[in-house]
Amino acid sequence: MFHTSIIEISKSALAQNIQFLRNLIGNDIRISATVKGNAYGHGIQYYVPLAESLGIDHFSVFSAEEAHHILQVKKPESTVMLMGMIADEHLAWAIAKGIELYIFDQERLDAVIQAAQKNDQKAVIHLELETGMNRTGFKEAELDSLCKTILENVNWIQIRGLCTHYAGAESTANHQRVSKQIVRFTQLKQRLASMGIKAEIHHTACSAASICYPETRMDMVRLGIVMYGFWPSKEIYENFKALNPTVTDDPLKRLIKWKSQVMSLKFVKKGEFIGYGSSYMAATDMTIGLIPVGYAYGFSRNLSNTGTVLINGKRADVIGIVNMNLMSVNLNGNEDVNRGDEVVLIGQQKNEEISVASFEELTNQPNYELLTRLPHNIPRVIVE
Ligand SMILES: *Cc1c(COP(=O)(O)O)cnc(C)c1O
Repeated sequence: MFHTSIIEISKSALAQNIQFLRNLIGNDIRISATVKGNAYGHGIQYYVPLAESLGIDHFSVFSAEEAHHILQVKKPESTVMLMGMIADEHLAWAIAKGIELYIFDQERLDAVIQAAQKNDQKAVIHLELETGMNRTGFKEAELDSLCKTILENVNWIQIRGLCTHYAGAESTANHQRVSKQIVRFTQLKQRLASMGIKAEIHHTACSAASICYPETRMDMVRLGIVMYGFWPSKEIYENFKALNPTVTDDPLKRLIKWKSQVMSLKFVKKGEFIGYGSSYMAATDMTIGLIPVGYAYGFSRNLSNTGTVLINGKRADVIGIVNMNLMSVNLNGNEDVNRGDEVVLIGQQKNEEISVASFEELTNQPNYELLTRLPHNIPRVIVE
């Protein structure tokens, strides 16, 4: 292994999360695993086959590039749904590969119909409705021309889904806005039905909505963050605990463990500065460990003098500035550390754990951002 750190992905953790979610939503609702952002940093090529081995057969991506990655590793029977960006010139490719496409404006619809005609093959589409987020999706005023186009092109499109996305279901501050969106979705759906447009399935819920607004689950839920073992926000976890007082342990298990090793040890005398500049002065004689991970590997410079890692099952504080490739940690009180010993940056070691959440509190990055910023080139390995 040439790399300075690796990321382990736990199969049993994913199995537990899926079990928990199945107990919550039942067996009749399909789960689409959301794998944009390189599967939230876990690595599409590792996560997709792993999820498939645990019964997941539907994957949601943002871009054509991500869809292309999934096609390299997925089972033939699994479905890929593209919710975001694909250039018009790649639509024929997507249709030929059986990728299902979000349609959120007239231009995209026209381009998809053209590509379907070119392929002489129906495009499978999901119509996205604007219900109040004001991002992508058809507004009510656009439904007439949408219907007209669809009814003129029934040979070229199959309406697989009708969908929308909520503007911040992870925060109760948005409760009113989300509730309005739920009502709006039903209104627009009925409006379309009255014009002769019906979809095979309806899907609107992300992780937070699936947990807090059961009526949003419909036929399929698009689950990202919970599958990876994180609560969408603290609030959602608190809500869940209030609704389920018998559950004492966190039912979600983190999949990732990010680890490195001690590269070198050094003894520093009281009064000396450690690392660049003068941000850290040894208050006593100290033993420090050099860890070959820095901000170039996704360990934020904001963690200078504040982060913590685990060595020998004990916490070791980051001291001084996090460098590009290297950081120093305090080993006083952790005397029997050797060169080569395992260092955990995120995850569990013996009885201690660095959760991404506590990492996040230190750096002010939400889980989503921290995970997706884990560099693609750190090797991922699946463990039991
Ligand atoms: C990212 C995303 C999801 C999944 O969100 P989580 O909060 O991670 O569950 C669902 N739907 C859409 C449209 C998304 O962009």
